[in-house]
Amino acid sequence: MTPAPKIPHKAPKTFAVKSFGCQMNVYDGDRMAELMAAQGLTQADPADADLVVLNTCHIRERATEKVYSDIGRLRKHGKDPMIAVAGCVAQAEGAEIVRRAKVDVVVGPQAYHNLPDLVARAARGEAALDTDMPVDMKFGHLPARRRVPPSAFLTVQEGCDKFCTYCVVPYTRGAEVSRTFGQIVDEAKALVEAGAREITLLGQNVNAWTDGGQGLHDLIATLSGIDALARIRYTTSHPNDMTQGLIEAHRDIAKLMPFLHLPVQSGSDRILKAMNRSHSRDSYLRILDRVRAVRPDIALSGDFIVGFPGETEADFADTLSLVDAVGYAQAFSFKYSPRPGTPAATMGEQVPADVMDERLQRLQAALNRDQAAFNAASVGRRCQLLVERKGKLPGQMLGKSPWLQSVHLVTDAKVGDLVTVEITQAGPNSVSGTESAGLPIS
Ligand code: SF4
Repeated sequence: MTPAPKIPHKAPKTFAVKSFGCQMNVYDGDRMAELMAAQGLTQADPADADLVVLNTCHIRERATEKVYSDIGRLRKHGKDPMIAVAGCVAQAEGAEIVRRAKVDVVVGPQAYHNLPDLVARAARGEAALDTDMPVDMKFGHLPARRRVPPSAFLTVQEGCDKFCTYCVVPYTRGAEVSRTFGQIVDEAKALVEAGAREITLLGQNVNAWTDGGQGLHDLIATLSGIDALARIRYTTSHPNDMTQGLIEAHRDIAKLMPFLHLPVQSGSDRILKAMNRSHSRDSYLRILDRVRAVRPDIALSGDFIVGFPGETEADFADTLSLVDAVGYAQAFSFKYSPRPGTPAATMGEQVPADVMDERLQRLQAALNRDQAAFNAASVGRRCQLLVERKGKLPGQMLGKSPWLQSVHLVTDAKVGDLVTVEITQAGPNSVSGTESAGLPIS
């Protein structure tokens, strides 16, 4: 039995959505905002909104506790907005959140198309919890895209069947499901009509996307035929789903950007096995060799976990040597932290916190070194820049290079323009450029 909310609220007139975590959550948050706007609600600051949607991430450290403190902050100073908890924490711990924090609405990541109905139920004082994972995906129930940034996200696939032993995604997002080819092409066209010049295709295992025997590379080839769409990216991929077709797309499809985010997590075969990654250090490196063979300038990115249970100094040395072998353009690295309900959470040999801290520092020093080297090596490159927003200085704009570097530029160009720049200066996390009359070369 789901407990009823504390007191009924009046039907909200304003709303705010706060998203935490990955790009898929950002996408989901945008779609929830569109959904509420289509109901006639006006977007407001979270401090003033009648309805606040907390779109939560279970990967955050102490994720559940942070949701409770976020709720506490919203209720400070006697304010009492209607609170909806969405996202992966809602999926994993929904009923408990209703019981403990008396929130009004709980909605899982596969059910948020029902948010308006749940809000209406909460306004009547009824219980409003929906964490179903219907086979019929939510996307057909969402309103059309209207206003989007020049670089927009498009979720094409959700869920995961890989069951890495540290990860909650297979439990919170469910099994791998692909949206249909037609649905994705329609949404991409709508995004481009609404102003997108670049689309990043999203999925927990985006390269596992499939429909009627077609793979992600077929989808990318079709999307590249949309005239006003200039750039295509995709994330996040699993090494085992890197097909030859997708690798060759990096050579054959000019609009597919030379960037690949391919998580590896560890350089040690022993740890990869304990993580149930189902690939080895060597098979991962061989995939990267094949990608570099067809697209030598590709920028590579990865994810790393240090301090997985049982990780020895020798295992960690294998991770450092893999980093040295790859030379990442950028990467994300985290300390292992146990997620309740995952097999790794109950494994013995948990690595002490101070050992993890020290290893993370060494890993990040190596990754920062390689990122700075990649940026330095791009000085003198001429490339297209997609202008995404204004910078802090007068006349300064910010955008992304094909290799996903942040580029600062003084220009008259507007947000959404593509301009040719020569990269003239490199910093550790970004580069600067000047507008250039010549054609892009890389
Ligand atoms: S591949 Fe592994 S880490 Fe990635 S979502 Fe699936 S279970 Fe989680």
